[in-house]
Amino acid sequence: MKCACCGAEMNQTEKDTSSGRDIREYECPECGHPDWEDLGKALWQILSDGREEDEAEKTSQAQPGSRDSHIEAEPRPADSGWGRLRAWFTLLFARKQ
Ligand SMILES: [Zn+2]
Repeated sequence: MKCACCGAEMNQTEKDTSSGRDIREYECPECGHPDWEDLGKALWQILSDGREEDEAEKTSQAQPGSRDSHIEAEPRPADSGWGRLRAWFTLLFARKQ
């Protein structure tokens, strides 16, 4: 990934899949500009979803509510992504003071 500020090749500083998304964080070695990219669902989350759906298929007749509760339990990656973006904007703003 190239730095949006100076075009230098950025260093990957973190890989975060805890929210169920594969989020890579980068920092520019030249100017310190932070950035990130969302590579979609993390592998463990895809596997986990597959297992939960299999479980739901098996138990759906015994527990009619199981599929609904599964949907409510879905993580909300848009929210956490926005929170990260806002945190970085705050960081950038603070550096310019
Ligand atoms: Zn840079």
